[in-house]
Formats: sequence, structure tokens, C-alpha cells
Amino acid sequence: MKAEALAARMDRARQAMSEAGVSAMLLSLGADLPWLTGYTAMPLERLTMLVIPGPRGSGTGHDGQPVLVVPELEAPRVAPVPDVFSVRPWAETEDPIAIVTDILHGHGSLLGGHGSLPGGHGDVGAGSVLAISDRAWATFLLRLQRVLPGASWRPASDVTAALRSVKDDAEVEALAAAAAAADRVAASLLGGDIPLVGQTERQVSAQLTRRLLEEGNERVNFAIVASGPNAASPHHEPTERTIDRGEPVVCDFGGTRDGYCSDITRTVFTGPPPPELQHIYEVVAEAQAAGVGAARLGSPCSAVDDAARKVISDAGFGAYFIHRTGHGIGLEEHEDPYMVAGNSTPIVAGHAFSVEPGIYVPGRWGVRIEDIVVATADGPVNLNHADHALTVVPR
Ligand code: ZN
Ligand code: ZN
Ligand code: ZN
Repeated sequence: MKAEALAARMDRARQAMSEAGVSAMLLSLGADLPWLTGYTAMPLERLTMLVIPGPRGSGTGHDGQPVLVVPELEAPRVAPVPDVFSVRPWAETEDPIAIVTDILHGHGSLLGGHGSLPGGHGDVGAGSVLAISDRAWATFLLRLQRVLPGASWRPASDVTAALRSVKDDAEVEALAAAAAAADRVAASLLGGDIPLVGQTERQVSAQLTRRLLEEGNERVNFAIVASGPNAASPHHEPTERTIDRGEPVVCDFGGTRDGYCSDITRTVFTGPPPPELQHIYEVVAEAQAAGVGAARLGSPCSAVDDAARKVISDAGFGAYFIHRTGHGIGLEEHEDPYMVAGNSTPIVAGHAFSVEPGIYVPGRWGVRIEDIVVATADGPVNLNHADHALTVVPR
């Protein structure tokens, strides 16, 4: 990630902080930190925390610059971006919570204090609003709350979610490359390179995982394989069930490649499906296309859900479509914007999200089709290109 791109993001984040009335933002685990710094914190009992004061000029000490407080032994992994943040490694015998609060005191005007405080930290932070990573560990938040009793707290997503939901060109490129890698694995599934009949769900899941890694993913986030009646469970965990002939097999898989996620679902058949199941497949495919088609700039996110759901409801299966139609995707596999009833957020260019309707008939079968789509001024662009046609795999 280029320093200029990170600096531009940081400026936008700090602008959004001031608009939201946030005095300082404290980023730990989760994707906000790598989005702004290129650095991902390890989920350790040792605290990593980026302290971001409000917009430039409003802070005092440190020239208002963000400071990454990081365990000394992790510091070698930080690629410095001096224009965006400075690094404060902390040694094993130091108290990182005290370091974070001291940095906040350096921005005393933000926290209603005056830098050095008589009587400890008790009165610091009165009236200040601190935004903390949604995924920060509770133990750190509790300790911060103890030393900053006057502060009020908000999730960092109040500031970052809307910003992160709009992908820049480099991010769309990364999502497209991740999707293309997932497509190649989907093609090997559709083409019969991955044997299904006689295999357990777990064995097929392991095959999908291996191929995703071979395609350059640094991590596989999930590889759902749900066969026969298990296909009726959208987030089914692969089991020792052996796949038989004449069944639907829902395969939903994705990984992280160069930091960005993929997520694709194809439902294949291990024999010609009975007419009712074939009909269900056609309804889901039509619903998926309708959802994509509704992803027009200015329409609410809910319009994508409405369009997909209408096709399924009109066909009489509305009660069997038991989840939202889609979710945003980027550094995280599920993030804003959510394509769900009630989300009135207007679709803007750069929104990247899944469109993944399904029909799940308990005890019998299920079908889902999922692609990643980016909204553009020229209409929705599919990042996935693996075939949607009903596919009976050869083995
Ligand atoms: Zn899901
Ligand atoms: Zn999925
Ligand atoms: Zn998904």
C-alpha cells in the first residue's frame, strides 16, 4: 500500500472523526488498523493500539500525529509510514494502557485536560468521546474505562465503516484478483476436477481449501460443503457425511489474497435433480440476477434484497429464504454495506458486496448462488464469472 494512499485515508478518517464529534480513535484488532496503516495487529494479550487524535491542528503534543503503540517484539513487523503515523514500541515491563493515556494527555485539549494532571488520570477525558475498534478486546477497553472515567465510548465503525465500504481503484483491483482466484477453484468444482460422490463433506472442503491456497490466498476463511439435506443449513459446518449420487451440494468458499477477501457459492448436483429441485435452482438463479440488476447508484441497499426476495416470494418460496441477500466485502469477508431490508444507505460507486440469495427447505435440500459485485456509474459489475448454469458434475 502506497504511503500517499494511506495518508489520504487517514485524512478522510480524521475528517469523519470531527464530523462525528469523536475526540480520538483507538484502533486495535480488526481491519480498521490495516486499512489506515498497512499493519495488522496480532490477537495477543499484549496491546497494540493506534491512537489517532482528531483532525490535524486540533491536537497539541506529537503535532497531532497518530501514534502506533505496539509490543516491542512486534515492532519489526511494522512497515513505517512516517507521514501517517509514528511508532511507540513498549517493553515487557511497561504498561501500554498508561502509554496510550499519556498520548491522549498529549492531546489534552481533546480530552478536556491540560497535559500533566494533578492527582493522576481520574479527571482526564471528561466530556471527550473516544472511538475504539469494534474488535478490541474487552479487557483493554475495561482498563481504559477505569483510567478515563469521564470519557464516553463509541465503536470505531461509527467513523470507519462508511469510509471503508467505498473501495478505491486499488481495492477493487484486489477484490477482482481475489474473485478470479475463487472463480478458478469454482471452475474446477463445476468441471468435475474435485470428486464429490463417495467423498465426505470434510474431504471436499479440504480440497477447496487446498486449491484456494494454491491460488495465492494467504488464508482460507471458510469452505462450506453442505450436501443433500445438509444443504438446507446456510452456514453448515462440513461433516463426515458421505456425498451420494443425485444430491445438491452447496459449496461456499473464500479466502484472503493480498489482504482482500473472496466469497463465492455454487450449488452443484451429483445427478440430474428432480423437477422440483431444478425449479428451485432456476428461481435462485433468477433471484440472484435480479439482485445484481438492482444494484444501481442511488438506490438503497435494501433494493438489492427486495429484488432478489421478490423473485423467490413470487415463486412461493419466500419462507425458505432465511437470510439477507448480501454483505459488503473488502479487508473483511463481512462488512458494510449490508444488502438487507431496512438499509436505506444509497448505493455509491465503489460499494463492493455479495449477492447470494438461497432457498432452504429443511430436511430436504437447499440451493444458493453467490457472486461479488461492485457498483459503478456504468451499472453493477460482476467480479465473479464462474458459470451459473445448472451443473451436474461428472463424479
Ligand atoms: Zn454466509
Ligand atoms: Zn459465501
Ligand atoms: Zn457471502
